[in-house]
Amino acid sequence: MQKINLLITLTVFSLITLPTYGQKDAYNNNKFKQLDQELPTPNSYRTGSGAPGHKYWQQKADYTIEALLDEEKNQLHGKETITYTNNSPDNIKYLWVQLDQNMRATNSNTYKIRQNRIDEKANSRYFESISGYPNYDGGHKILEVKSKEGEDIPYVINQTMMRVDMPQELKPGEHFSFNIKWYYNINNRKLMGGRGGYETFKDGNTLYTLTQWFPRMAVYDDVNGWQNKQFLGRGEFALAFGDYDVKLTVPDDHIVASTGSLQDSTVLTETQRERLEEAKYSNKPIEIVTKKEAIKNEKKKGKGTKTWHYKADNVRDFALGSSRKFIWDAMGVEQNDKIVMAMSYYPKDAYNLYNRYSTEAIAHTLEVYSRMTFDYPYPVAISVEAENGMEYPMICFNYGRQDEEGNYSSRIKYGMLSVVFHEVGHNYFPMIVNSDERQWTWMDEGLNSFLQFVAEQEWEWNYPSQEGFPDNIIEYMEGVPEGMSPIMTNSESIKQFGWNAYSKPSVALNVLRETIMGRELFDYAFKEYAQRWKFKHPTPADFFRTMEDASGVDLDWFWRGWFYTTEACDISIAEVITMQLDTQDPNKEMTHLKALENDKRPTITEINNQKEGLETRVSKNENLKDFYNTDYKYSVYQDDLDKYKKYQNSLNEKDKEWMESNKYVYQVNFENVGGLVMPIIIELNFEDGSKDKKYIPAEIWKKDDKIVSKVFVTDKKVTSFFLDPNRETADIDTSNNHFPRRNSVNRFQLYKSKK
Ligand SMILES: [Zn+2]
Repeated sequence: MQKINLLITLTVFSLITLPTYGQKDAYNNNKFKQLDQELPTPNSYRTGSGAPGHKYWQQKADYTIEALLDEEKNQLHGKETITYTNNSPDNIKYLWVQLDQNMRATNSNTYKIRQNRIDEKANSRYFESISGYPNYDGGHKILEVKSKEGEDIPYVINQTMMRVDMPQELKPGEHFSFNIKWYYNINNRKLMGGRGGYETFKDGNTLYTLTQWFPRMAVYDDVNGWQNKQFLGRGEFALAFGDYDVKLTVPDDHIVASTGSLQDSTVLTETQRERLEEAKYSNKPIEIVTKKEAIKNEKKKGKGTKTWHYKADNVRDFALGSSRKFIWDAMGVEQNDKIVMAMSYYPKDAYNLYNRYSTEAIAHTLEVYSRMTFDYPYPVAISVEAENGMEYPMICFNYGRQDEEGNYSSRIKYGMLSVVFHEVGHNYFPMIVNSDERQWTWMDEGLNSFLQFVAEQEWEWNYPSQEGFPDNIIEYMEGVPEGMSPIMTNSESIKQFGWNAYSKPSVALNVLRETIMGRELFDYAFKEYAQRWKFKHPTPADFFRTMEDASGVDLDWFWRGWFYTTEACDISIAEVITMQLDTQDPNKEMTHLKALENDKRPTITEINNQKEGLETRVSKNENLKDFYNTDYKYSVYQDDLDKYKKYQNSLNEKDKEWMESNKYVYQVNFENVGGLVMPIIIELNFEDGSKDKKYIPAEIWKKDDKIVSKVFVTDKKVTSFFLDPNRETADIDTSNNHFPRRNSVNRFQLYKSKK
């Protein structure tokens, strides 16, 4: 109660002193205010419904690449022809090409802007990483940029971006082809980290994952013009769709895993081809290269080379894995009218987990994700074990190795399953629903982590999901505001990256699905978003708008609270007032008053007088004693009975019925302590042991987002109230979720006391 009084006093005070500010704040701070100022104005490219507009366009970039993997020098040499098609309504003067390897060049800004601190422990590797690696000459070495006719084309390299100055402006509908020749020193992934690179095993053999390995076109769109923000290492990629024709030459005993479909199967043995055909119609994975064969391969080093030729249509990127250590298994997965090959490639160090689970996990991912979005459109889905986690179209790199004895912990097993669901899942977001990762990490990581959670929970009962359950983010949400960023923050500026861009948005979507919208409305709207934007470039507004457009639920308050602020949910049952009906029946009411009087304890003066055995004047003098007993106060007189009869006659039948029904009435006052507005989910526990869960939509906070009241009328007596019993809201303080309050039990440790 005190809090309410205080609040009213403060409000009145501020209204008197600064009335205009008060009103402005009431407007700006309203948690249900529509997102008009935050979202861009709709236009003919992107509509107010969140769908692509009737003039939506996007660019296309096709690649023909020939590359050589030099295992001796750990170098990649390549030449490519890029054909860029201008589907925009604009004349384009220059092209921007991404040279992502330059993030590791010696002059890279990534090293310069990295904050360093000396902690208690530091080693030589730490000091190397501060300023780059002195013995590593990283970066794309551009050897030439030439026209189709063989003429030099001027270009300027600015860190990870290269501007190519075309001989003349590229008009709408035209395309421009040019050639680039380059090489780079592949990074040691185990030493320097990285999404791709090489790993050398104890036996001297190497496993390559080739990523961001060729100069790639930047995105030009209606939102940013050129998306040429530098690649600093964290904010990932923005890429255009296109068709790829890639020939990679590797040592002839290597097995190559790749985006796309293999064009020339003569790189495979007759046996391998037969096994692949068998795997296509098998309901369990078939080994194309067995463990025994892989062990044999890694013992000898081939002298010649082989060229693996792959093609992929309508992809935004292209990646490969190559090693003589690969074991390879495959299984066909039906996606409506076609068969997708789910395939895994792994060294023997990961055999015990990957042989058993990897390809099955791919198949499971395709099943769940396709149901929630659209049929998987590509011919293959590949998981490569490379002791990391990174995604590309049709292929991803994952982790999970057994120990020396061949055992693995359940932590490694579930980590491995989750990373496969996650990275294979990235095929949908952002490889097909092609958002701008350089700007927004949550649009692919958040949506993907949410679907990963759905897949996990459908893999096995009690799957230990690390992301998705509201409880999973409480630890983060109760942190200090200075250490947090809203989800709507540029990738490079995000504080607590994993919590912000993966965990929180995945919980937000799960809360929308299970609690706020319900599965029917959510699943339809989410699928609609995926279908509207597959093979296109969506922005946050397109997602926010589509979710509302397809469900009929106003979610602006939810996006505002969860995506534009760092507020947490903490709702408290501030007070429960039990209301009783004043019957006005003198007999009943006198009994009630008497009970109240009897409930009173003696005063301290009475107690002390009695203790002293005080003799009062009346107790000493019989004549002073009154003949009434103390009950005279509660006597019922004819007057009162007449008044009551008159009152009864004034009531209609319905009122009388209600009066005799013996209902229980409770007014519950809720306080929003955390700031984030959320639905109130409250369980009423009755005297007879039964329960009733009530759901009050978040809109109850529309006029007052601090304190609201709700009256509950029940037939049975309520013994306790319990907020959010199924842990749906990520409420950061549950000690105020019970009424009456519960004793909270904390645990402490006893230390041996010193003598
Ligand atoms: Zn991811």
